[in-house]
Amino acid sequence: MAEFEIALLPGDGIGPEIVRQAKLALEAVGSKWGHSFRFSTYLVGGAAIDELGKPITDETLAACQGADAVLLGAVGGPKWDRIDPAIRPEKALFGLRKGLGLFANLRPVKVFSALAPASSLKPDVIAGVDIMLVRELTGGLYFGEPRLRRKTQTGQEAVDTLSYTSEEILRLVRRGFELARGRKKKVTSVDKANVLATSQLWREITEKVAAEFPDVALEHLLVDNCAMQLVRRPSQFDVVVTENLFGDILSDEAAMLTGSIGMLPSASLGAGKAAMYEPIHGSAPDIAGQDKANPLATILSAAMMLRISFALEEEASAIEQAVEKVLAAGYRTADLYGENCQIVGTTKMGQLVLEAL
Ligand code: NAD
Repeated sequence: MAEFEIALLPGDGIGPEIVRQAKLALEAVGSKWGHSFRFSTYLVGGAAIDELGKPITDETLAACQGADAVLLGAVGGPKWDRIDPAIRPEKALFGLRKGLGLFANLRPVKVFSALAPASSLKPDVIAGVDIMLVRELTGGLYFGEPRLRRKTQTGQEAVDTLSYTSEEILRLVRRGFELARGRKKKVTSVDKANVLATSQLWREITEKVAAEFPDVALEHLLVDNCAMQLVRRPSQFDVVVTENLFGDILSDEAAMLTGSIGMLPSASLGAGKAAMYEPIHGSAPDIAGQDKANPLATILSAAMMLRISFALEEEASAIEQAVEKVLAAGYRTADLYGENCQIVGTTKMGQLVLEAL
């Protein structure tokens, strides 16, 4: 029997409600397939500030580093908006990314056929979309130095620095190729190599990595063209690898293809053992504690954990198929618009997924 240690970080707002449903789904998988998942729960974000004085403690970080995987709900909320910026709830996320060395952010964008009408694109454009967007998370413009503002003779000047090392590019792109091997064997590398020196290095390194994976096709795409292709013919993409800023923007664009923020899971992977899984949405304070939150993005994040961290492909697919089945049967949480659909709450949606499993 396989044993896995999972650190649960419910966080704030709807976090505890949605993580509860994902835990139930993991337990159901455990008893059906005979795996032992051991859960430990820790406070992060505003909840940790209130109880422990900071958004994440060293003990919590150490526990996450020692776990086989981490499942996070969401952090933040109006209660903590005005506190000292040094201990804001979001600092927990940076602490986790840094402490776990998470350099690759994976966002699958898959359109469940029952939800195709909820997309802002036409159903025939959206049919069959199944993209894995792999975004570099720790380098590029958001971290480059110098970063400054200074007076000039005529006004002011601000500087941000875009810098990438070959090592940073290599480890990220290699992850993308490894993922493509288990999918449709195509990698689209997105850059701005007609203008940027970092993108030219990105292309060179990507070509080198591609030579290690002769079974995977590589194409390069300029970021402006990629933004257009994502809404023109999104089904052409399999794995997309890109740097931090481009990934930040493209992942939100790609997210909209599916029609709802409550459906999208994500994974952040690093060099160490523990990867972190979380829905892409925030803590939704407007609906917290009302049994209205859509738990599916978190349940699908748990499925990503099974597939990527534990190599349990059959179990991961079973959760995804259960979600598909519940949606096809017409059940929706309030955030998912649908004619002739039955609106259910967080707990009921979780139960329906368990029954479909
Ligand atoms: P949000 O994603 O929390 O909410 C945006 C809108 O989407 C809200 O109307 C909300 O009700 C709805 N929504 C989000 N998730 C939903 C779900 N699962 N089911 C149904 N509806 C859902 O973004 P926001 O309002 O900009 O931010 C709220 C708080 O969350 C802020 O404090 C922000 O800093 C924080 N935040 C945290 C994370 C994270 O923890 N990773 C990410 C983004 C925002």
